[in-house]
Amino acid sequence: MQALLTGKSALITGGTAGIGKAIACLYAAHGADVAIFGTNQTRAEEAVREIEAAKINPSQKVLYVLVDVSQSKEVERVIQELLTSWGKIDILVNNAGITRDNLLMKMSEEDWDLVLNVNLKSVYNTCRALTRPMMKARAGTIINISSVIGLTGNAGQVNYAASKSGMIGFTKSLAKELASRHVRANCIAPGYIETQMTEGLSTSVKEAVLSKIPLGHIGRPTDIAHAALFLGCDLSSYITGQVLAVDGGMVM
Ligand code: NAD
Repeated sequence: MQALLTGKSALITGGTAGIGKAIACLYAAHGADVAIFGTNQTRAEEAVREIEAAKINPSQKVLYVLVDVSQSKEVERVIQELLTSWGKIDILVNNAGITRDNLLMKMSEEDWDLVLNVNLKSVYNTCRALTRPMMKARAGTIINISSVIGLTGNAGQVNYAASKSGMIGFTKSLAKELASRHVRANCIAPGYIETQMTEGLSTSVKEAVLSKIPLGHIGRPTDIAHAALFLGCDLSSYITGQVLAVDGGMVM
């Protein structure tokens, strides 16, 4: 296997579980230094062990930072520390995300704010801290993990759908701002992927989703990681401002 990220450094938010951890492990397996942001120490330590095991070179750096990505000042501070320590971040993956589902009629302002802050304001926070150094370096790639729900909408998820559609508009605008400096920004829109986020859904909901997937099976975190590898490496150097749905054909 050819290593596609040798010499690159990557920051993955929500890299302690599910899709983010799969991306972190695959990036390490392709030679990158990997930093993950998360909120749970036990999960972060476990993730770092898995990422370390995936490394192909002992000199590759792996670290975690406990930080709530919705908090601008904290995010700014930890990214500055990371830049001081590593000198650069080549790949930013905004993956941290949550759901607080309810019909709009019953949705509290707290659940609206929480989902918008964790899923969307976090993207503003990390991108704002990293675009200047990426522009100066005239290199870098940003990958925002949106969702097919951001493309189609879904009853019971107005907060989540708004955050995920918002990421798409944000990414396209940022791609236009950064293209002349050779910095790229793209979205991945996962369909239904087996992680903690989806394991709580009832069997009937899972069966209903499955019936809408032309490829006939639920996705795995590695399916998203493969797309994130492509968008993170130079194989995608002529692609910016795009939304890549990785969903077994659910949305086409
Ligand atoms: P998950 O719940 O397994 O993992 C979410 C990660 O985000 C965890 O590492 C968690 O610690 C981190 N996180 C949550 N809140 C945070 C905060 N405030 N600050 C820092 N980190 C925080 O979820 P997943 O299924 O792996 O989802 C990852 C991303 O993919 C999310 O953005 C989600 O919306 C998106 N997505 C998932 C699916 C799916 O079917 N699983 C589908 C479409 C999109």
